[in-house]
Amino acid sequence: MEEQNFGTRDKRGFWKPNELIGYGPLLAFPIRILKILSWLLLYPGFLLPWGIFFIFLASILWLYLTPSMETLKNFDLNWILYLFFRNLILISVLWGILHFRLYYKQVQKNKFKYNGKFQDKPNKNFLFNKQIFDNIFWSVCSGVTIWTAYEVFVLWAYANNIFPTISVNENPIYFILLTVLLVNMWHEIHFFFTHWLLHWPPLYKYVHALHHKNTNPGPWSGISMHPVEHIIYFSGVLIFFIVPAHPFIAIFLLSKIAIGPGLSHSGFHKLFIGKEMVNTKHYLHYLHHRYFECNYGAGLDGSIIPLDKWFGTLHDGSEEAEQRMMNKLRESD
Ligand SMILES: [Zn+2]
Ligand SMILES: [Zn+2]
Repeated sequence: MEEQNFGTRDKRGFWKPNELIGYGPLLAFPIRILKILSWLLLYPGFLLPWGIFFIFLASILWLYLTPSMETLKNFDLNWILYLFFRNLILISVLWGILHFRLYYKQVQKNKFKYNGKFQDKPNKNFLFNKQIFDNIFWSVCSGVTIWTAYEVFVLWAYANNIFPTISVNENPIYFILLTVLLVNMWHEIHFFFTHWLLHWPPLYKYVHALHHKNTNPGPWSGISMHPVEHIIYFSGVLIFFIVPAHPFIAIFLLSKIAIGPGLSHSGFHKLFIGKEMVNTKHYLHYLHHRYFECNYGAGLDGSIIPLDKWFGTLHDGSEEAEQRMMNKLRESD
């Protein structure tokens, strides 16, 4: 499959998809049930492949790789370190494979890569003069540590009945709704407003600018963030203080927002997996890294709640949006 069948590359080497990026139909009016069902259940859609992938991943973590509730009742360095290394291995394997294939082996060269260039030259903006080393440093030392710290606290809180827990058998529909839709919708709201806040000049300068050094991002740029940003980013899980849920749901939310950015910063619109071409769906967030002042919403395209549209910050990839963005950039110069 050739990239020119799906989009165009300009003279400067930037590729953009032909299709305009839109939102899922759940909150579109008038309500169209068939459209919602096909978006939810068919491939490619909201659940297939990535929605199911993250639910499957969280199920493995919860069923096989999380200590028992009895163990979690008391803080103990053994299980805390176990969770840290579990998360570290998970992120290293998944993003390691992505980075190795896309950037080291360059298996699909720059086909479907938004920015045609590979950023592999020494660059003094980054720690150790190299984007990949800088990204790994912040993702691991700060990202995995703070992700694990939230997970430790939340699991301890569930084990001690501090967070309200539902029984899956008694509330199967609520449990499925939470997993499939509500948790994602909550993350979209939390991410949009906290991300917008991070673009407030003082916070941007001292905190969020670290993530934005990655104008040509790769998988390891996903949670390459300042520790203060990690504390804000993962804090959405604290909603379970008041919203009745289940430890599985908390693990699902945390692992999805920790691992997902590897995809949403991969830099490629489509990935070749075997003979299949899988959409990574993150053109909107790529545009955020390129232009900064647009698309504050969740990284993956096809979000449920059109927050950027409502707040006038959407860049959907169209010519008009591009012109609007260029004018805005010129005004701020
Ligand atoms: Zn980003
Ligand atoms: Zn930003």
